[in-house]
Amino acid sequence: MPVKIILKRGKEQSLLRFHPWIFSGAIAKICGKIDEGDIAEVVDSEGNFLAVGHYQIGSIAVRVLSFVPREINQEFYTERITIAYAMRRQIGLTDNEQTNAYRLVHGEGDGLPGLVIDIYDGVAVVQMHSVGMYQDRKYIETALIEVMGASLKAIYNKSEGTLPFKAGLNPTNSYVFGTAPESKVARENGLLFYPDWEKGQKTGFFVDQRENRALIERYSKGRNVLNMFCYTGGFSFYAMRGGANLVHSVDSSERAIELTKSNVELNFPNDPRHQATAMDAFKFMQETTQKFDLIVLDPPAFAKHLNVLNNALKGYRRLNTKALEMIEPGGILFTFSCSQVVSKEVFRTMVFSSAAKACRNVRILHQLTQPADHPINIYHPEGEYLKGLVLYVE
Ligand code: SAH
Repeated sequence: MPVKIILKRGKEQSLLRFHPWIFSGAIAKICGKIDEGDIAEVVDSEGNFLAVGHYQIGSIAVRVLSFVPREINQEFYTERITIAYAMRRQIGLTDNEQTNAYRLVHGEGDGLPGLVIDIYDGVAVVQMHSVGMYQDRKYIETALIEVMGASLKAIYNKSEGTLPFKAGLNPTNSYVFGTAPESKVARENGLLFYPDWEKGQKTGFFVDQRENRALIERYSKGRNVLNMFCYTGGFSFYAMRGGANLVHSVDSSERAIELTKSNVELNFPNDPRHQATAMDAFKFMQETTQKFDLIVLDPPAFAKHLNVLNNALKGYRRLNTKALEMIEPGGILFTFSCSQVVSKEVFRTMVFSSAAKACRNVRILHQLTQPADHPINIYHPEGEYLKGLVLYVE
């Protein structure tokens, strides 16, 4: 029997609207001994059932798995992953000759808070962000094998850096099904890349920029492109296919620059149009004398928590002002924020003040977000984390 968690009077409101988080301040009483990762049954102050979910230590105390009473077992995970897979099939991402890299499970967006699964040419890279998900890992692995069948080549669990450190689980990143493929090459919109899930950031590649990269391709012809925060160079090789004159990729990480170079090489061997520099973004933009008429700014999440939002916004503003000052007349800026705590409105206001500071005439051409394989649960607006604007700079 799961431990019961009783909420304070009135604190059931957000759950009645299917919001999947219960904050610790909403809890009146925990009836029994509970450990992080355990399944909890949440009830209102009258004892009426509200939800079941994983208990965790921190400001989010429960992450909801179901709003109807049910056991969280193999059947539950197989059902959720079957639904997630069917959705990716519907949007054309499975059995796709041009693209074999996509997100199969996107946390709350797929009703599985704390779980991320990305697929790279049949290899599932699994990241658990909660103790509960980690404890249920066997169910998740079995579900993946069952749902993906012969198309699943391996499962790599990469939760070393994503689980709460204090939980002391000490997981090691490893293959839990199948073995490392001989060559790790995946495909996105017909372009090739090496997803480095063993050593790279996140699951090895930022699959969430797929559609925004395709858009840059459309605007690159004849332009000098600067790809800031390039990581593995996704925007760079799309710009090259789009006919850019020159593409300069910049990232502070040497390793990222190496990966960018090998990915560009994979698609455009010995192409003199590409340059890459390992350098701090602010420093590079201060020092460069090159002229650019298409700039991409895709920085890491400067704000991970609300309490640092103001500092983060200063960083974003400085970056955007500098890019707007240096871009050639008629230039295009692709600017992004992947901070969950920076809302679409706040992001746009930040870009507005950057434009005013740079004294440029700026028009919004596109408003961008995350692709359909990173779905937003309508009851969990916090899930809309990626926002971008494409600006025309007069
Ligand atoms: N645009 C990339 C994803 C960017 S992730 C893509 O399409 O895949 C953010 C990147 O910013 C990381 O690679 C990180 O190494 C880099 N980074 C972080 N701080 C930086 C800084 N101050 N200057 C330059 N790069 C930085």
